[in-house]
Amino acid sequence: MEKIKTRFAPSPTGELHIGAARTALFNYLFAKNQAGEFLLRIEDTDRERFIVGATERIIESLSWLGIVPDNVDEPMVQSTRLEKYRAAAETLIKNGDAYVCTCSKEELGAERQNQIAKNLPPKYSGKCREKSQITRGKSQTNQKFEIPNGAVFRMKMPESGKIVVEDLIRGQVEFDAGLLDDQIIIKSDGFPTYHLASVVDDHEMEITHVLRAEEWLSSTPKHLILYKMFGWTPPKFGHLSMILGPDQAKLSKRHGATSVLEYRDEGYLPAAIDNFIALLGWNPKTEREIFTLPELVREFKIENVNKSAAVFDIEKLNWMNADYIKNQISKIKMTDENSKILEKWGYKKLSNDELELIGRGGFRTLRDVAHFLDDLYEEPEYNAELLIFKKSDFGKTKTGLEKSAEKLSALENWDEENLEKILAEVVSENNLTNGDVFWPVRVALSGSEKSPSPVELLVALGKEESLERIQKAMSKLK
Ligand code: GLU
Repeated sequence: MEKIKTRFAPSPTGELHIGAARTALFNYLFAKNQAGEFLLRIEDTDRERFIVGATERIIESLSWLGIVPDNVDEPMVQSTRLEKYRAAAETLIKNGDAYVCTCSKEELGAERQNQIAKNLPPKYSGKCREKSQITRGKSQTNQKFEIPNGAVFRMKMPESGKIVVEDLIRGQVEFDAGLLDDQIIIKSDGFPTYHLASVVDDHEMEITHVLRAEEWLSSTPKHLILYKMFGWTPPKFGHLSMILGPDQAKLSKRHGATSVLEYRDEGYLPAAIDNFIALLGWNPKTEREIFTLPELVREFKIENVNKSAAVFDIEKLNWMNADYIKNQISKIKMTDENSKILEKWGYKKLSNDELELIGRGGFRTLRDVAHFLDDLYEEPEYNAELLIFKKSDFGKTKTGLEKSAEKLSALENWDEENLEKILAEVVSENNLTNGDVFWPVRVALSGSEKSPSPVELLVALGKEESLERIQKAMSKLK
């Protein structure tokens, strides 16, 4: 059986955004689901938009998400391969499938204006193509090309007929060949265009499946023609639908969509981001929504990728992140990376135990956890009334706190299990309810209405500090 190979081919023009991360993830899932390879290619042929350091940031983002390309140490980099594209383009010229175009920008601009004025779809007139037909006999030999300054290479598109893209997600999509311009394949700066470089590289990398954003669908007929000219078998293509905001507008920052590293720095967990972006277009066909990366690899099927646009809902991401923090926190360790992030926010390093206990408190992001924890070490300020649960009263609350303090000060093994047991005993032995005991102890420790459970707080604060706070709470009730 053929080995499945997919690729992610970003242009290093900025940060890895959530939409591009989805493209990478789907290529990764598709390949890994079939024991295939997932490769990285850096498409840096647009020198004007190139940003120094962007490639490194993209790799950092992918690695953080756990979507690591198999060639991460040596990704294919287009700017190092210029002779290859040039040679490929010259082959096309020799075969009569491409030609040198010397039309100036001004000429082309005027032509375009003219067509628009006449209400015609703007299209290159093919002036140089006609010239090349006449001189073709000569150019078939092995001569070197003398390319006039400012000239480009164009491929000859078929003049009529249909080009059919068999899309893995959308089915058959037809294009009218006659409407497509003769595409530029080598630009006047000697760099290839996206079309030529993409085809040459996908062929050389033996890519079997290309999953890319919908915006590239209109490029695919051009690519298919190039494959035909070279006599190569094209990969299979699937175009991923757009991602929109909940208001159906193009996804943007105002919907909370941002770069992967920004989410990292906000304290989102990579597992939550992977899970969330997988559901932007992939339908698991069950009610279940939480899937870890290995589970996604196992379950992913291209047949279950939607044709319709996906909707990005930040509330859902927040919910999912809170869910991961709550349920998976014991698997998250305080890595150096996490610590660095906390440091950047100005928080102290958490121990794994603290992180685990506090993490169960229903926080939205790690940053919120750290923020809470940081506040936790400051003495809480609150009003005495807050100590009394709405179904409790002054007397019961006071007893609850006093009995808890008594038992806690006698406790030697200050661990979760014992603490839980003690508070439960205070309830049962004094004919109280949880609201008379757990609530005031929690408020005494945190000073706030919403916080992790008292047991978690007791562990995080330690015996001495906890007892001191409970004492203070009792004196507030006097
Ligand atoms: N460089 C293109 C991009 O930035 C790649 C498109 C493709 O996957 O063919 O999205």
